[in-house]
Amino acid sequence: MRVATYIGLGSNLDNPPQQLRRAIQELALFPESRLKACSSLYRSPPMGPAEQPDYINAVVELETGLAAESLLDALQDIERQHRRVRAGHWGPRTLDLDILLYGVGRIGTPRLQIPHPGIGQRSFVLYPLAEIAPGLSIPGLASLESLLQQCASDGLERLDDSVSATV
Ligand code: AMP
Repeated sequence: MRVATYIGLGSNLDNPPQQLRRAIQELALFPESRLKACSSLYRSPPMGPAEQPDYINAVVELETGLAAESLLDALQDIERQHRRVRAGHWGPRTLDLDILLYGVGRIGTPRLQIPHPGIGQRSFVLYPLAEIAPGLSIPGLASLESLLQQCASDGLERLDDSVSATV
């Protein structure tokens, strides 16, 4: 059985747009999986320490037959391949991949929380998600539409090729 999953991508080091584009190509090759949709790239101010570059973010939909833990393993392999550099919690990183949603499933293990914690408050997740799946409901939370109404765009910018448009 295949499940619709949504993956959040973020990077603020080493050519972030390229990090994201490469990661999307790589996750499209996962076994039993098909890339269904990609949001635009977005630029967002950093969460946490402000003395770091802005982030580039995106969300993709991946239909997959992988179990949630196997999907996390595969995403962490990609993070390692991108020689992820981390300087502390919420510090800069070359690539961060999060499972935002795994079908309508709710998972709460030490290693995996789905829906991803914080999904409801993060503009850099909600806006790109709404671009590719506007009618979604977040299990245990609310409709994406109502979460968006309560979430300021917080300096988020949608990058449209070389032109950027404020959300
Ligand atoms: P971070 O890289 O700071 O986002 O956190 C990585 C850790 O978050 C990993 O060790 C994962 O086990 C854990 N984690 C918990 N829930 C998730 C999720 N939904 N997606 C990705 N990582 C998760």
